[in-house]
Amino acid sequence: MALGEFDLIRRFFASASVNTDLPPDLVLGIGDDAAIIRVDAQRDFVITTDTMVAGRHFPLDTSPSDIAHKLAHVNLSDCAAMGASPRFATLALCLPQADESWLAAFAQTLQTQLQQHGVCLLGGDTTSGPLNLNLTLIGEVPSGSALRRDRAQVGDVIALTGTLGDAALGLQLALQAQHLKDANAREYLLRRLHRPQARVQAGQLIRPHAHAGIDISDGLIQDLRHVLQRSNVGAIVDIETLPLSTALRHSVSNAQALDYALYGGDDYELLVTLAEPEWSPLQARMASAGMALTQIGRITAGSVLTARYCGQPFALQARGFDHFSVDDISS
Ligand code: ADP
Ligand code: MG
Repeated sequence: MALGEFDLIRRFFASASVNTDLPPDLVLGIGDDAAIIRVDAQRDFVITTDTMVAGRHFPLDTSPSDIAHKLAHVNLSDCAAMGASPRFATLALCLPQADESWLAAFAQTLQTQLQQHGVCLLGGDTTSGPLNLNLTLIGEVPSGSALRRDRAQVGDVIALTGTLGDAALGLQLALQAQHLKDANAREYLLRRLHRPQARVQAGQLIRPHAHAGIDISDGLIQDLRHVLQRSNVGAIVDIETLPLSTALRHSVSNAQALDYALYGGDDYELLVTLAEPEWSPLQARMASAGMALTQIGRITAGSVLTARYCGQPFALQARGFDHFSVDDISS
């Protein structure tokens, strides 16, 4: 069987780093949304990088402004998952040609998004070749307080920001594999695909209350499994509690909406786990900041992920986004 994305990382990169002497100021290396480096007694930096490839992460006709927005937010989302405040970025561009109008639109949106989140662009690299964009982001947290994937505890509440599955349907619309009569729903779903909003403020608000966190970039089930594996725990998910937008629910069947919510990628919501007594105070703080947080399940002992639908067993599939088991989305 072909090597999957996560096996590949484990085999060739993560195992190499555990066999070498780790520097004492490295708090956490490969395996989370970002690495953590101790700056001083007060501060840790978190460091993350994400690449976007034309025809793979976005259809070829995506606007430069949408590409820039998404590049900023996929990285901001990893920072949000650590509960960090974004600070610095570097930008590496590989461009097929120096198209001035393309670059003007791309640069303007990228700068706006970085500035809005207090990020200073430090440098980067520019080359020619197939369209490929990479951003590296550095964020800051009080030392020892970053939200990690490996800290979930048995009995924790599992909670989610926002709604799931919108971007997966948005992708079907962008690829014209699906058509919707409702123009408002269509616009909303396409926006959720092209203009995700990283939950940066939510991550910082959640951090003091939660044990563990991850952002949902590759599908709820796949990303929840990362938390379970890293924390050596299991979980039970109540499918009927999954937060779904009105646009998604009104556009496809319930079964299809759930499929997008469970296995679709590109949502960039946060999944967090927290002790039961933290649930009410955190939900109140989130509500007063105008942000939704929905309880979807519990962390259990063992290593098994199960689900139920209104109390009845619900079979989960081992599916999610993996770069080495998907087709291109060129259009
Ligand atoms: P995310 O979806 O949160 O961006 P990924 O699934 O891309 O995270 O990566 C999982 C982990 O593997 C991260 O800690 C990431 O830094 C690490 N990783 C991915 N690719 C490589 C690589 N080529 N070399 C070293 N580490 C990698
Ligand atoms: Mg992530």
